[in-house]
Amino acid sequence: MAQHVRRRSGAHEPVVGAVTRPWPHVPSASPRAQGERSVWLGRRVFRPSAHGGQHHYQHVAFALHQAHGVSSRVTMSLVLGLVRLQLSVPGQLRLWRFRLKHRSLRLFSDFKSFMANPRTRRSIEQAFPLLLLTALTAACSLASKDGGDGLHFSLGPMPELAKKKTVPGARRTDAPWTYVLPIDHGVRIDQSGQGYFRAPRFHGEHNGLDLLAPVGTAVYAPCEGKMMVGASPSFGSWVQVVCPVPAGFAIENQPHPWVSFFFAHLSRTPTSPEQWFDVHAGDQVGEVGKTGNAQDVSIQPHLHLELIVQRNRRSAMDERHLGADQSNVEAAQQFARVLDQQCMERYGFVSKTNEVRRARRIDPFIALTCLSDFKPNFKKAPSPLSSASKEWAQFYFAKDFNVNLGVEDSILARH
Ligand SMILES: [Zn+2]
Repeated sequence: MAQHVRRRSGAHEPVVGAVTRPWPHVPSASPRAQGERSVWLGRRVFRPSAHGGQHHYQHVAFALHQAHGVSSRVTMSLVLGLVRLQLSVPGQLRLWRFRLKHRSLRLFSDFKSFMANPRTRRSIEQAFPLLLLTALTAACSLASKDGGDGLHFSLGPMPELAKKKTVPGARRTDAPWTYVLPIDHGVRIDQSGQGYFRAPRFHGEHNGLDLLAPVGTAVYAPCEGKMMVGASPSFGSWVQVVCPVPAGFAIENQPHPWVSFFFAHLSRTPTSPEQWFDVHAGDQVGEVGKTGNAQDVSIQPHLHLELIVQRNRRSAMDERHLGADQSNVEAAQQFARVLDQQCMERYGFVSKTNEVRRARRIDPFIALTCLSDFKPNFKKAPSPLSSASKEWAQFYFAKDFNVNLGVEDSILARH
């Protein structure tokens, strides 16, 4: 366990907030999966009183790693397999002997009739090329030195941001923006707070929207523009993405307004802090986390998302998303007006709880529903987040579409 942890945060690896390689999409990049594996390792292998043979296996694994460059992941699997085998062999042997004695004859006749079935034979023949391909792919990935470890990050001058993968959900060919998460578990509501837009807070009202999501969930840039990364005591690791408002949202004869999206409490962010970088819609800009004032165990992991409309590019880049600043701008009023006419009125789409706007802030769910594509369908979060996972229908209503699923092509086609 200790070894495992040390490897992840060794001196040669920079800490969180300094990732420039393409983002890992392998399952190992998920801290939840990592956590599960560590627990498993801790209980079964690195337990102090565990089987004496494990050290031997660890040496074998280390030697393999050293001499042949086999990735630590592969060697670790090997160790696990061997230890598991050694721990379970005596009991298993007794069981197998019993089973063999009583069931082998029946199994054999079952297997014979199964294979004799022409449908079985046909499916095996059809599946054979696929099985072969899968086996080859697996062999190749195991043979590669890095083994898809996904934990080696380094500093560099420019971020190479991984592209968002297409997710199932509402597809809108005309959408100017893209949805910010690959999953949708709705609004976070737990014993520490309510995450909907303008929910009551001790300091007044919630300035953003809390999208419930497990730690490690990818966060995507909703639009093409500029991004910056930073950290603060309350927001934790944050990312700001600024981009021009879509055509039709601007005011005639005035500078083109820009929006500023703000993501807080992230666990990982990909670039050097306090610098602006180019970003495209769908680029991964971070991972959901529990940093800043979201660290308490009673607070379920979520993405705090804010959307502010500013009069131009410069003001959007200067926007600091401070809760105390509730100043208004004309551009935000105009944005809300167009959103209302072009989308909300059109689809009979309303917020059940609050207004769409709070000064220069806009309800991010309404804006994304109206302007983004590929929102995954709402699905209640699995345990342990399930009790905090509230569906959109609790806070919004739309006459023409299901707010849990989003606006679909068919609705747009009618207009
Ligand atoms: Zn929040």
